[in-house]
Amino acid sequence: MTARIFCIANQKGGVAKTTTAVNLAAYLAAAGRQVLVVDMDPQANATTCLGVDPRTVETSVYDVLISGQQADEALTLTAHVGLHLLPATQDLAGAEVEMAPIIGRERLLARALGSLSGRYDYVLIDDPPGLGLLTINGLTAAADGVIIPVQCEYLALEGLSHLLRTIEQVRDVLNDRLRVSGVVLTMFDGRTNLSQQVVQEVRKYFPHETFHTVIPRNIRLSEAPSYGQSILSYAPGSAGALAYRALAAEFL
Ligand code: ADP
Ligand code: MG
Repeated sequence: MTARIFCIANQKGGVAKTTTAVNLAAYLAAAGRQVLVVDMDPQANATTCLGVDPRTVETSVYDVLISGQQADEALTLTAHVGLHLLPATQDLAGAEVEMAPIIGRERLLARALGSLSGRYDYVLIDDPPGLGLLTINGLTAAADGVIIPVQCEYLALEGLSHLLRTIEQVRDVLNDRLRVSGVVLTMFDGRTNLSQQVVQEVRKYFPHETFHTVIPRNIRLSEAPSYGQSILSYAPGSAGALAYRALAAEFL
C-alpha cells in the first residue's frame, strides 16, 4: 500500500488541529486502518494526547529531521491498535533554526516519510501554529492535501487568507499535489449566532471541501488530553466522540 498523507494545518493556535489529528486518527485506526500521526509541534501536544510522555522519548521527529535518524527508529506505539506515533519533544523548538541552512530544508519530512509510506493507510501530520519551516515541511509532505480546522468562534476567513497563500506557494514550488482536501468546523456552539455565522461563511467559501460533520464544543474533548487519551478511550459516548467518529466515517 501507499499511505495517503494529509497534514492538519492552520497558522492560528487553539483551533483544534491537534484534537482533530489525534481523534480522527484514533477513529481511523478503530475502523481497521493502519495510521501514523506525525507530531510536528514543539509543544508535543499530539504526543501527550496519545499517552506518550515527551520527556521519555528517545528518538523523536527532531532526530529524524535534523540528525538523519531513520524514521522507523522513532516510531512509537500508542494505546490504539493500528495507530503509531512519530513523537515530538521540546528539541523541535530549535529545529526551524537548525533546518535553515540545510539544502532541501522544506522536504526533510517528505523524504523521511518516504521510507514508511508502505506501512500505513493514512499519515496525519499535526502541524504547529505559524507558517514557519516546520509547517512548510508538513505541507510539502502532504501528498494528499491539507485539512484545515476552523474554530466556530471567530470570523475565521480573514485569518485563513495567509494560509491559503502559503498553500499556493508550496503547491507551485514544492508539492504540486497539495490542495485543501477538507475543512473541519470545530468548537461549534449552537447557542451563539457567531457559530452559525462562521459555519455559513466557511461553507460558502469552501462548498466542496467543508465536511458535513461539525465538531461541537464539548468539555470531554478538552479533558481527554490531561489523561493522555483520545476521546475514543476517554469518553466514547460523549458528543465530541460521536462527532469525531462521524468525521472519520465521512473522511473514509
Ligand atoms: P491547536 O492544535 O490548533 O493549537 P488544540 O487541538 O490543542 O488546538 O485545541 C485547543 C484547545 O481547545 C485544547 O485545550 C483542546 O482540548 C480544546 N478543544 C479542542 N476542540 C475542542 C472542542 N470541540 N470542544 C472543547 N474543547 C476543545
Ligand atoms: Mg496543536
